[in-house]
Amino acid sequence: MNKEFSRYGILFVVSAPSGAGKSTLCDALRQTRDFVYSVSCTTRPPRAGEIDGEDYHFLSEAEFAERLTAGEFLEHANVHGKFYGTLRDPILKNLHDGVDVLIDIDTQGAATIRGYDDVFVRQALADVFILPPDLEELRRRLTKRGTETPAQIEVRLVTAAREMELWRDYRYTIISKSIEEDLQKFRNIMGAERYLSTRLVLA
Ligand code: 5GP
Repeated sequence: MNKEFSRYGILFVVSAPSGAGKSTLCDALRQTRDFVYSVSCTTRPPRAGEIDGEDYHFLSEAEFAERLTAGEFLEHANVHGKFYGTLRDPILKNLHDGVDVLIDIDTQGAATIRGYDDVFVRQALADVFILPPDLEELRRRLTKRGTETPAQIEVRLVTAAREMELWRDYRYTIISKSIEEDLQKFRNIMGAERYLSTRLVLA
């Protein structure tokens, strides 16, 4: 018996409230060659050290609106008053080529992908929620990060409290501990998803 198996790529979606440790986790995952990291578009200004085309494609509101009208986004959302969007074509190409893709998006974006009308996208999805320890710890982490003003931190904490309720909507939840533990848990999820029988295609 000579069976040739292949599979389509997996769309790993990671969501978490600001300060939950998601960026650190995603940065660590980006260092590996396990998947392609999808760079989102945003209308928020770059933070110190952020690189255009690497952290985000930083766009003006007009540029973002143009791309939205042209139908370039798989999903988009308004987060904390700024627009964010995931570019569709590079993701679909990678998934069809059997390459796994990692996207870091908010809970609205994850809900859009869960309800996406193309079954290929829905089947590719493996969504993971990173649950932060608690709101006080989040406040400490955001304050320590120092990239937001106190007023912006309060806005993010209100959003975080609302988002933390949504962990049940995700296939996986990682209760955030140390970066090493979070990374190991993510790798376990990745491994299991890659061996799902339903993901295999027999030539
Ligand atoms: P930040 O401004 O801190 O980089 O990101 C704020 C929030 O926007 C985070 O929750 C992040 O996951 C989310 N985000 C980043 N890119 C996208 C995207 O393309 N789509 C959606 N829906 N959310 C995004």
